[in-house]
Amino acid sequence: MMERREKLYEGKAKILYATDDPDLVIQYFKDEATAFNALKKGVIENKGIYNNAISSTLFAWLEEQGVRTHFVRKLSDREMLVRRLRIIPIEVVARNIVAGSLAKRLGLAEGTPLPRPIVELYYKRDDLGDPMINEDHVAVLDLATAAEVRSMREQALEVNRRLSKYLEERGLRLIDFKLEFGRHKGGLLLGDEITPDGCRFWDIATAEKLDKDRFRRDLGGVEAAYQEVYRRICGGG
Ligand code: UDP
Repeated sequence: MMERREKLYEGKAKILYATDDPDLVIQYFKDEATAFNALKKGVIENKGIYNNAISSTLFAWLEEQGVRTHFVRKLSDREMLVRRLRIIPIEVVARNIVAGSLAKRLGLAEGTPLPRPIVELYYKRDDLGDPMINEDHVAVLDLATAAEVRSMREQALEVNRRLSKYLEERGLRLIDFKLEFGRHKGGLLLGDEITPDGCRFWDIATAEKLDKDRFRRDLGGVEAAYQEVYRRICGGG
C-alpha cells in the first residue's frame, strides 16, 4: 500500500502528495480546467478520472516502448504513483498539423499539415504567460544543459512518432502536444501527463476536436470528448 501523506504542490489540474518513500509521489487528477493562462476557469465533470486512466495507459505503453517516464502505477480512479522529479521549467511542444498559437504566429490555417514534425520550447512561467524560447534562452537562464535540450527534443519526436501511430489505430489524429521532463537520480524522465488537456486530438473520420479546445472555445460536448478519448485509448465504457 502507498499511503498518501502531505500535499506538496497544488496546480491547476493536479495535486501532488508525498508518500512514505521520498522518491515517489502521488499525482491526483482534478476536474478543474483552466485556459488562457487561467483567465478562463471551469470544471469538466469526471475529467480527473478520464485523464488519470488515459495518462496511465499511455505512460505504461510508452515504458514498454523503451521511453523512460515517471510512471510507476495507477493507484485509484484519480491517483497515479510516479517517481519524484525535479521538473525542468520548459514545456516541450511537438506539432504535426498547424493549430492554436502556431496558426496565429505564422498566419497559417488551422489544419494545415506541416511537411515534418516540429518541436518548440516554452518557458514555464505563468507570470510571463509561458513565452516561447530557444536554446540560447535556455542556456542563459540555465534551465537545462545543451545535452538535456537535445534529449528532450529527441524524446518528443520519438513519442510523437510512436503516439501518432498508436492513436491513428484508434481513429485519432495527433495534431500537437506538450510534454514536461524532469530529473530523477541523474537521469531525465518524461513527467506530467499525456491527456486531452495538453494534446490536440482530432477524430480521423469526422475531424471533430476531442480535446481541451472544446473547453477553450466553448464548443460544447466537453466531457463527452474526454470520455470518447478514454474509450478509444482505455477501451472502457
Ligand atoms: N499546451 C499545454 N499547455 C500550455 C500551452 C499549450 O498543454 O500551457 C498544449 C496545447 O494543449 C496544445 C499544444 O500544447 O496541444 C500546443 O499549444 P499552442 O501553442 O497551440 O497553444 P494554445 O493554442 O493551446 O494556447
